[in-house]
Amino acid sequence: MNTQSDENDSTIYKTLLESTKAIPWKIDWASKQFAYIGPQIEQLLGWSQDSWKTVEDWATRIHEDERERIVNFCVERSLQGQDHEADYRALTRDGSYVWIRDVVHVVRTPTGEPEALIGFMFDISERKKTEQQLLELQKQLEEYSYKDGLTEVANRRMFDMVLEKEWLEAKRHQQPLSLIMIDIDFFKQYNDVYGHLQGDEVLKRVARTLNSAGLRTKDFFARFGGEEFALILPETNAASAIKIAERCRNLIFKEQIPHVGSKISQILTISLGVSTTVPVSNLEPKAFVEFVDSLLYQAKNAGRNRIQQGSK
Ligand code: GH3
Ligand code: MG
Ligand code: MG
Repeated sequence: MNTQSDENDSTIYKTLLESTKAIPWKIDWASKQFAYIGPQIEQLLGWSQDSWKTVEDWATRIHEDERERIVNFCVERSLQGQDHEADYRALTRDGSYVWIRDVVHVVRTPTGEPEALIGFMFDISERKKTEQQLLELQKQLEEYSYKDGLTEVANRRMFDMVLEKEWLEAKRHQQPLSLIMIDIDFFKQYNDVYGHLQGDEVLKRVARTLNSAGLRTKDFFARFGGEEFALILPETNAASAIKIAERCRNLIFKEQIPHVGSKISQILTISLGVSTTVPVSNLEPKAFVEFVDSLLYQAKNAGRNRIQQGSK
């Protein structure tokens, strides 16, 4: 009696299902055959509607990196009678991949056995692309937060972190740790004579030059602040540290950066404080930095363009 209206209903449902962007499908659990898949699948993946015969056709079109995990997950959930969803890359006919979210409903027999799986596949490539972009942005932000914006060497925050880590290492292994603090001489006058923008350029140049002074992989160079830089030298004794400090001074000298405002030279020079310690429990890295900074100011007071070494 209801046949006519049932037919109308199913035509409506079919039309509705086949006009959505989501792709409907049904798999018969016992035979593992597709009972249905929306024709939209061909537009999305290129595989024709009637090429979807068994679950094998589905499984083999999942990217091999996630195939096993996805298939196992879906089988396990289905056996438990749990609705589930899975994101995976589906192979297209031309050999590329599309990110799919498969949302699955498990139809169960009165005794609780799976009878069929009904689901919708959604194209989530746009969402995945945004996710990827966000991840990259996050990575970049992280990088920026440890990098000095002007000179592109490590910033003060990174310096503090690395010093803390190297301090603990040196303390644990009772190894010497050296620190060099560097400050440009008469930089205020440099800005006054050449302008702030030119001053920025010189800061970049000095940073680039000094960044190559430490030769070991663990040597770490940072902009400490303003026109002050720092070099952390793990496992480096006092004799080696002074050599590296001298190399720093020479590298800057070789650049021959004109500085007519300097009261001691016609070219740009730097002053350095250097010290070496084997950390013991009653000395904090912060106090060590302050000590090396005080050596730097001794070098300034002694006439600049020189290295002041000391030990605490
Ligand atoms: P001294 O030899 O005693 O170090 O003299 P100085 O003139 O270098 O003195 P000080 O170190 O106190 O001065 C730092 C100057 O560096 C002041 C500031 O204008 C300049 N400076 C700090 N950061 C920047 C920067 O990012 N760009 C430029 N162009 N100048 C900076
Ligand atoms: Mg200075
Ligand atoms: Mg300074």
